[in-house]
Amino acid sequence: MQYILCEPFAAKFNQPTREKIVTKTWMCLICGWIYDEAAGLPEEGIPEGTPWDQVPMNWLCPECAARKEDFEMVEI
Ligand SMILES: [Zn+2]
Repeated sequence: MQYILCEPFAAKFNQPTREKIVTKTWMCLICGWIYDEAAGLPEEGIPEGTPWDQVPMNWLCPECAARKEDFEMVEI
C-alpha cells in the first residue's frame, strides 16, 4: 500500500526540477498603480506574463503617465 502511494511521488521527484516561474509586481511610486507581470496589461498590448524588462521603454503608467523609472518592484 505504502509502495503504491510512493510510486507517483518518486516519479515526480525524478523529473528535472522545473524552474519556478516567479512573476514580480511593480508599483508606480507616483500614484501607487500596480503592474503585475502575471497579469500583464492586455488592454495596452502587453500580454499576460510579460516581465517588466520586456515592457517597452516608452510605456507610461496608465494612471499618471509616469515612466518605467518611476516604478519600483514590490513583494506581495
Ligand atoms: Zn502612476
